[in-house]
Amino acid sequence: MATKLLYLYDSYLREFEAKVESVNGNLVVLDQSAFHPLTGGVGCDTGWLVKNDARVRVVHVEIDRATKIVSHVVEAEPIGVAHGDVVKGVIDWDRRYCLMRLHTAAHLIAAVMYRDYSALITGGQVDVDQAKLDFNLPRTDREVFEDAVKKANEEVAKRAELKIYFLSRDEALKVPGMVKLAERMPPEERELRIVEIPGIDLQADGGPHVKNTGETGEIQLLRIENKGRNQRRIYFGINRS
Ligand SMILES: [Zn+2]
Repeated sequence: MATKLLYLYDSYLREFEAKVESVNGNLVVLDQSAFHPLTGGVGCDTGWLVKNDARVRVVHVEIDRATKIVSHVVEAEPIGVAHGDVVKGVIDWDRRYCLMRLHTAAHLIAAVMYRDYSALITGGQVDVDQAKLDFNLPRTDREVFEDAVKKANEEVAKRAELKIYFLSRDEALKVPGMVKLAERMPPEERELRIVEIPGIDLQADGGPHVKNTGETGEIQLLRIENKGRNQRRIYFGINRS
Protein backbone atom coordinates (compact mmCIF):
# COMPACT_ATOMS: atom_id res chain seq x y z
CA MET A 1 0.00 0.00 0.00
CA ALA A 2 1.23 3.48 -0.84
CA THR A 3 2.80 5.37 2.07
CA LYS A 4 0.74 8.33 3.25
CA LEU A 5 2.96 11.37 2.65
CA LEU A 6 2.42 13.62 5.65
CA TYR A 7 4.64 16.46 4.39
CA LEU A 8 2.18 17.10 1.54
CA TYR A 9 -0.30 18.41 4.12
CA ASP A 10 2.11 19.96 6.60
CA SER A 11 5.71 20.69 5.60
CA TYR A 12 6.44 21.84 9.17
CA LEU A 13 5.69 18.47 10.77
CA ARG A 14 8.95 17.44 12.47
CA GLU A 15 7.77 14.38 14.40
CA PHE A 16 5.12 11.80 13.72
CA GLU A 17 3.97 8.34 14.76
CA ALA A 18 3.56 5.54 12.28
CA LYS A 19 3.03 1.81 12.08
CA VAL A 20 5.77 -0.38 10.68
CA GLU A 21 4.62 -2.07 7.49
CA SER A 22 7.80 -4.03 6.83
CA VAL A 23 11.47 -4.31 7.69
CA ASN A 24 13.82 -5.68 5.09
CA GLY A 25 17.51 -5.48 6.04
CA ASN A 26 18.12 -1.79 6.59
CA LEU A 27 14.95 -0.70 4.76
CA VAL A 28 11.98 0.28 6.89
CA VAL A 29 8.55 0.93 5.38
CA LEU A 30 5.92 2.76 7.45
CA ASP A 31 2.20 3.26 6.84
CA GLN A 32 2.76 7.05 6.83
CA SER A 33 5.80 9.30 6.89
CA ALA A 34 6.82 12.95 7.14
CA PHE A 35 10.23 12.09 5.64
CA HIS A 36 10.60 13.62 2.20
CA PRO A 37 12.14 11.10 -0.19
CA LEU A 38 14.61 11.99 -2.93
CA THR A 39 12.14 13.02 -5.61
CA GLY A 40 10.92 15.97 -7.63
CA GLY A 41 14.39 17.50 -7.77
CA VAL A 42 14.55 18.00 -4.01
CA GLY A 43 16.95 16.17 -1.71
CA CYS A 44 15.72 13.67 0.87
CA ASP A 45 15.37 14.10 4.59
CA THR A 46 17.46 12.42 7.21
CA GLY A 47 16.55 11.89 10.85
CA TRP A 48 15.71 9.13 13.29
CA LEU A 49 13.26 6.33 13.93
CA VAL A 50 12.56 5.93 17.62
CA LYS A 51 11.03 3.07 19.62
CA ASN A 52 10.96 3.44 23.38
CA ASP A 53 14.53 4.46 24.32
CA ALA A 54 16.19 3.13 21.20
CA ARG A 55 16.71 5.09 18.06
CA VAL A 56 18.30 4.50 14.71
CA ARG A 57 19.52 7.06 12.20
CA VAL A 58 17.68 7.44 8.89
CA VAL A 59 20.39 8.20 6.34
CA HIS A 60 18.42 8.15 3.10
CA VAL A 61 14.78 8.06 2.00
CA GLU A 62 13.47 6.96 -1.37
CA ILE A 63 10.11 6.44 -3.02
CA ASP A 64 9.14 3.81 -5.55
CA ARG A 65 7.50 5.71 -8.39
CA ALA A 66 5.13 2.90 -9.29
CA THR A 67 3.98 1.75 -5.86
CA LYS A 68 4.46 5.12 -4.06
CA ILE A 69 5.98 3.22 -1.15
CA VAL A 70 8.57 5.17 0.84
CA SER A 71 11.63 3.28 2.12
CA HIS A 72 13.61 4.65 5.05
CA VAL A 73 17.22 3.53 4.79
CA VAL A 74 18.63 3.19 8.30
CA GLU A 75 22.32 3.03 9.12
CA ALA A 76 22.20 0.01 11.40
CA GLU A 77 20.00 -2.97 12.08
CA PRO A 78 16.57 -1.56 12.90
CA ILE A 79 15.91 -1.29 16.62
CA GLY A 80 14.00 -4.54 16.96
CA VAL A 81 10.94 -3.30 15.11
CA ALA A 82 8.59 -5.54 13.20
CA HIS A 83 5.38 -5.31 11.26
CA GLY A 84 2.65 -3.62 13.29
CA ASP A 85 4.95 -1.85 15.79
CA VAL A 86 4.45 1.86 16.36
CA VAL A 87 7.54 4.03 15.97
CA LYS A 88 8.19 7.73 16.14
CA GLY A 89 9.85 9.43 13.19
CA VAL A 90 11.94 12.53 13.85
CA ILE A 91 13.05 14.72 10.96
CA ASP A 92 16.46 16.42 10.97
CA TRP A 93 14.80 19.83 10.92
CA ASP A 94 17.87 21.97 10.16
CA ARG A 95 18.45 20.03 6.98
CA ARG A 96 14.76 19.95 5.97
CA TYR A 97 14.26 23.66 6.60
CA CYS A 98 17.24 24.48 4.34
CA LEU A 99 15.75 22.28 1.62
CA MET A 100 12.39 24.06 2.00
CA ARG A 101 14.00 27.49 1.79
CA LEU A 102 16.14 26.62 -1.22
CA HIS A 103 13.24 24.91 -2.94
CA THR A 104 11.10 28.02 -2.55
CA ALA A 105 14.00 30.14 -3.83
CA ALA A 106 14.17 27.86 -6.89
CA HIS A 107 10.50 28.61 -7.61
CA LEU A 108 11.17 32.35 -7.45
CA ILE A 109 14.20 32.24 -9.75
CA ALA A 110 12.46 29.94 -12.26
CA ALA A 111 9.38 32.19 -12.29
CA VAL A 112 11.43 35.33 -12.95
CA MET A 113 13.51 33.60 -15.65
CA TYR A 114 10.33 32.57 -17.42
CA ARG A 115 8.51 35.88 -16.98
CA ASP A 116 11.37 38.18 -17.99
CA TYR A 117 13.59 36.02 -20.22
CA SER A 118 11.18 33.36 -21.58
CA ALA A 119 13.67 30.81 -20.27
CA LEU A 120 12.22 27.35 -19.67
CA ILE A 121 13.57 25.20 -16.89
CA THR A 122 15.01 21.92 -18.17
CA GLY A 123 16.28 20.41 -14.94
CA GLY A 124 17.41 21.09 -11.45
CA GLN A 125 18.30 19.75 -8.04
CA VAL A 126 17.87 21.25 -4.60
CA ASP A 127 20.44 20.01 -2.10
CA VAL A 128 21.03 21.18 1.42
CA ASP A 129 23.99 23.46 0.75
CA GLN A 130 23.11 24.73 -2.71
CA ALA A 131 20.64 24.34 -5.55
CA LYS A 132 21.08 24.27 -9.29
CA LEU A 133 18.65 25.02 -12.10
CA ASP A 134 19.12 24.43 -15.82
CA PHE A 135 17.51 26.76 -18.31
CA ASN A 136 17.05 26.80 -22.02
CA LEU A 137 18.53 30.20 -22.75
CA PRO A 138 20.72 31.30 -25.64
CA ARG A 139 22.26 34.20 -23.74
CA THR A 140 25.26 33.56 -21.56
CA ASP A 141 25.43 36.97 -19.91
CA ARG A 142 25.96 36.84 -16.22
CA GLU A 143 23.74 39.94 -15.97
CA VAL A 144 20.67 37.86 -16.88
CA PHE A 145 21.15 35.68 -13.81
CA GLU A 146 22.19 38.57 -11.59
CA ASP A 147 18.97 40.30 -12.61
CA ALA A 148 16.89 37.17 -11.97
CA VAL A 149 18.38 36.69 -8.50
CA LYS A 150 17.87 40.37 -7.69
CA LYS A 151 14.21 40.15 -8.72
CA ALA A 152 13.75 36.87 -6.82
CA ASN A 153 15.10 38.67 -3.75
CA GLU A 154 12.51 41.40 -4.30
CA GLU A 155 9.87 38.66 -3.99
CA VAL A 156 11.55 37.45 -0.79
CA ALA A 157 11.31 41.02 0.57
CA LYS A 158 7.57 41.10 -0.19
CA ARG A 159 7.05 38.35 2.39
CA ALA A 160 4.21 36.77 0.42
CA GLU A 161 2.27 33.86 1.92
CA LEU A 162 2.38 30.72 -0.23
CA LYS A 163 -0.92 29.01 -0.94
CA ILE A 164 -0.97 25.22 -1.02
CA TYR A 165 -4.17 23.41 -1.92
CA PHE A 166 -5.50 20.36 -3.71
CA LEU A 167 -7.64 20.31 -6.84
CA SER A 168 -9.09 17.40 -8.71
CA ARG A 169 -7.85 17.12 -12.25
CA ASP A 170 -11.33 18.05 -13.51
CA GLU A 171 -11.49 21.15 -11.29
CA ALA A 172 -8.04 22.23 -12.40
CA LEU A 173 -9.01 21.94 -16.06
CA LYS A 174 -11.77 24.52 -15.44
CA VAL A 175 -9.49 27.16 -13.92
CA PRO A 176 -7.66 29.44 -16.37
CA GLY A 177 -3.97 29.24 -15.57
CA MET A 178 -4.31 25.69 -14.19
CA VAL A 179 -5.16 24.07 -17.49
CA LYS A 180 -1.55 23.71 -18.57
CA LEU A 181 -0.59 22.21 -15.22
CA ALA A 182 -3.46 19.75 -15.35
CA GLU A 183 -2.67 18.73 -18.91
CA ARG A 184 0.96 18.07 -18.03
CA MET A 185 0.04 15.71 -15.20
CA PRO A 186 -0.10 12.00 -15.98
CA PRO A 187 -3.78 10.97 -16.34
CA GLU A 188 -3.56 8.52 -13.42
CA GLU A 189 -2.88 11.45 -11.06
CA ARG A 190 -6.43 12.35 -10.17
CA GLU A 191 -5.54 15.09 -7.70
CA LEU A 192 -3.13 17.98 -8.11
CA ARG A 193 -1.31 19.65 -5.26
CA ILE A 194 -1.06 23.27 -6.26
CA VAL A 195 1.70 25.50 -4.91
CA GLU A 196 1.00 29.16 -5.57
CA ILE A 197 3.24 32.11 -4.82
CA PRO A 198 0.71 34.88 -5.38
CA GLY A 199 1.49 37.14 -8.28
CA ILE A 200 4.50 35.19 -9.52
CA ASP A 201 4.26 31.41 -9.62
CA LEU A 202 1.78 28.55 -9.93
CA GLN A 203 2.93 24.92 -10.02
CA ALA A 204 1.63 21.41 -9.54
CA ASP A 205 4.21 20.30 -7.02
CA GLY A 206 4.65 17.62 -4.37
CA GLY A 207 7.56 19.10 -2.48
CA PRO A 208 7.99 20.86 0.86
CA HIS A 209 8.08 24.68 0.79
CA VAL A 210 8.19 27.46 3.38
CA LYS A 211 4.96 29.25 4.25
CA ASN A 212 6.20 32.73 3.43
CA THR A 213 8.72 33.90 0.84
CA GLY A 214 10.40 35.95 3.59
CA GLU A 215 11.56 32.72 5.25
CA THR A 216 13.73 32.00 2.23
CA GLY A 217 16.13 34.76 3.17
CA GLU A 218 18.51 36.42 0.78
CA ILE A 219 19.32 34.30 -2.27
CA GLN A 220 22.94 34.34 -3.39
CA LEU A 221 24.11 33.65 -6.92
CA LEU A 222 27.04 31.22 -6.64
CA ARG A 223 28.04 30.52 -10.23
CA ILE A 224 26.88 29.98 -13.78
CA GLU A 225 27.90 27.19 -16.14
CA ASN A 226 27.51 26.83 -19.84
CA LYS A 227 26.14 23.32 -20.40
CA GLY A 228 26.11 23.38 -24.17
CA ARG A 229 23.93 24.87 -26.85
CA ASN A 230 21.33 27.13 -25.21
CA GLN A 231 21.75 25.33 -21.89
CA ARG A 232 22.74 27.42 -18.90
CA ARG A 233 23.05 26.25 -15.32
CA ILE A 234 22.83 28.50 -12.30
CA TYR A 235 23.99 27.53 -8.80
CA PHE A 236 22.58 29.48 -5.90
CA GLY A 237 22.46 29.32 -2.14
CA ILE A 238 20.99 30.95 0.93
CA ASN A 239 22.45 32.12 4.17
CA ARG A 240 22.11 29.14 6.54
CA SER A 241 22.65 30.97 9.81
ZN1 LIG B 1 8.10 23.29 -5.43
